[in-house]
Amino acid sequence: MILTACIFGVCQQKKVIHMSFFEAHDPVFSTFVLGNAPVKQLATGFDWVEGPVWFGDAECLYFSDIPNNRIMRVTQSGALSTYRAPSNFANGNTRDLQGRLISCEHGTRRVTRTEYDGQITVLADSFDGKPLNSPNDVVVKSDGSIWFSDPHYGIMTNYEGFKAKQELPCNVYRIDPETGEISAVVTDMACPNGLAFSPDESILYVADTGKMFDENAEQHIRRYEVHGDTVSKGAHFHTIDTGASDGFRLDTHGNIWSSAGDGVHCIDPSGKLLGKILVPELVSNVCFGGRGKHQLFITATTSVYVISLNRAGV
Ligand code: MG
Repeated sequence: MILTACIFGVCQQKKVIHMSFFEAHDPVFSTFVLGNAPVKQLATGFDWVEGPVWFGDAECLYFSDIPNNRIMRVTQSGALSTYRAPSNFANGNTRDLQGRLISCEHGTRRVTRTEYDGQITVLADSFDGKPLNSPNDVVVKSDGSIWFSDPHYGIMTNYEGFKAKQELPCNVYRIDPETGEISAVVTDMACPNGLAFSPDESILYVADTGKMFDENAEQHIRRYEVHGDTVSKGAHFHTIDTGASDGFRLDTHGNIWSSAGDGVHCIDPSGKLLGKILVPELVSNVCFGGRGKHQLFITATTSVYVISLNRAGV
């Protein structure tokens, strides 16, 4: 079905409904999906969408359209509007414990918080006296600390930010909720990217997408044991069999729902691939939302998709 719609002044070319298409690599995956639930295209016409975050109180999804320098929002019925433009080439987004928007900005090389009145507070823009590279993805722990990855993708070209000299290694940092101090917690990766905690927060998962620009680099998800404000040395957790993991979220059972080259892969806590949701575009990230957090929102290149699952997000 092809439709042309113009909602809130933002024109969309089409709304195509794709029926679900799953690959079960373990029989249990068939119980995670709903046989008649479509993979529905909610919005399209973007260049590289990322950073999905669900605002249940507003019943809409916020996400970044990085090359077009804007943060968009879309309702479950597909009503689309621009939230912030310019967005300083924002990438990853999440919410803090008070529900405020936390964003990674490539253009300004910082992590920000949007206050209730719309004012922007800078949470991190440097480490060790040097500017951050280009904060990419971010997660908030239950103690209020903010953990973010800082690869160099946003300063490599002028496409998703501004080309600039890299002055820091690509690390994962933690912002202390009391003091605002920033510490480097993961320093053994080529290009840390997506990150998320296990439901009990004993494990931090981090994707390394270093192979994109360095043949010899690792391209996998690593797991780190969390010890208070720090983590132990990482260990290999899972290598995506098609493409790479850019971003991911966990369900309440501890399964990882990760972006991949052919869709979304579901990986159990032991690192085993349970199944795939096939998506017709390269997927960058996902987040759970909707009533009961049983919907998985998928940012994929030019479009945002959603699918209802028999699983709920953490
Ligand atoms: Mg990312």
